[in-house]
Amino acid sequence: MNNATFTELLFGPAGSLFMYSMLIVIIAMTLLVSLRLLITRRKVGYFSMVIALVILIVQYGQLVARAVTQSQSETGMFLALLLKLLAFVLLNIGIYQLYNATRKRDLLVFVLFIAGTVAISVTYWSIPVWLQENMEQTALLQPLFMELYLFLLLFLSFLLVGPRIGQNGKYQIMLTVYFAAHTLHMANVYLFDDKQPYLKLCEQIIPFLFHVVLFLFIFERVIEIMQAIYNSSITDGLTKLYNRKYFLGRVAQYVEGRVPVSVIFSDIDNFKKLNDTKGHQTGDAMLKQVAQIMMEETADTGLCGRYGGEEMVVLVTDPETDPAELAERIRSRVETESIVTISMGYSRSKKGITADELIKQADEAMYEAKTSGKNKVVGF
Ligand code: GH3
Ligand code: MG
Ligand code: MG
Repeated sequence: MNNATFTELLFGPAGSLFMYSMLIVIIAMTLLVSLRLLITRRKVGYFSMVIALVILIVQYGQLVARAVTQSQSETGMFLALLLKLLAFVLLNIGIYQLYNATRKRDLLVFVLFIAGTVAISVTYWSIPVWLQENMEQTALLQPLFMELYLFLLLFLSFLLVGPRIGQNGKYQIMLTVYFAAHTLHMANVYLFDDKQPYLKLCEQIIPFLFHVVLFLFIFERVIEIMQAIYNSSITDGLTKLYNRKYFLGRVAQYVEGRVPVSVIFSDIDNFKKLNDTKGHQTGDAMLKQVAQIMMEETADTGLCGRYGGEEMVVLVTDPETDPAELAERIRSRVETESIVTISMGYSRSKKGITADELIKQADEAMYEAKTSGKNKVVGF
């Protein structure tokens, strides 16, 4: 490849074409991930993100067209700027919505921002009138308000969106990269008359970085959300213990695999009376406290679930752990740390036993503890 064509490739229309096409590919990938989120979550809020990405694709598509045709038209320039501003506003609204439920007050802010953006864009057409059609000044000053407005938007995003979302570090990198790209663009246009090829090149490369980080940002959020959906499908909302269905599945998995395990069954004593005398809220708080103690005591040795109302169960998977000792530790901690007591029963798995039978045996042992005075541990 000779030098002339290389320079041309890098700085000429072909270079721009290549850069913008690559950008479109990255944005399209981000769009696919966002669409997946929109479809699986069916949350209207994710529309902003999708619309912003579509606008970005249109924006870069238009830049490709401008690079190919070498067009300098006023309207084309205006459209490019307007799309850039709208995409930025919608993208940030979308990012906000990825982490927040949209409330009425937010909607008002969104509408204000979009209206403000459109209002600022009108200055593009009113400046030529003020300057009484002085061509040279017009060309330079026409887009100025829109370009400066983008700095204001960047500043507001730092201030308003950043503190209200997760992954704020990544978000700040994104804004900083965007700021750098825009500052370069301004310097190139207003200081160097758009004639600095290296600046122009940077102006095209930096958005890459921005869109790669944006892709990672959204991708990570999708994984977070999918994980949260899965977690909430296997846990109990109040106590954060596994729910009955998941717990049963895990017991069956061990029992069918002939791994020796044991099950501890516990039931809070006189819980109805506690609810009646101290109220449901106190009852709920006790459920949480007992669950917390159970989770702490079984963190390395097993897993616990909420079997029913105030019935909690432990699957002891660690062969070194004696279920009687573990149950006693939990029982005595509940007795000393909370205002309730629990009755517990445990049973060890034997050859030929099913998961249901194992749990039933632990339940029977617990019943034995209930009928023989409560607040104690009984083995099957
Ligand atoms: P025992 O010592 O024999 O176990 O008596 P008990 O009162 O604990 O037993 P019972 O099964 O009659 O009462 C269980 C109560 O648990 C009844 C129900 O109101 C209460 N309960 C079940 N789920 C919840 C819950 O999520 N929150 C609260 N606060 N109470 C619950
Ligand atoms: Mg009870
Ligand atoms: Mg009960």
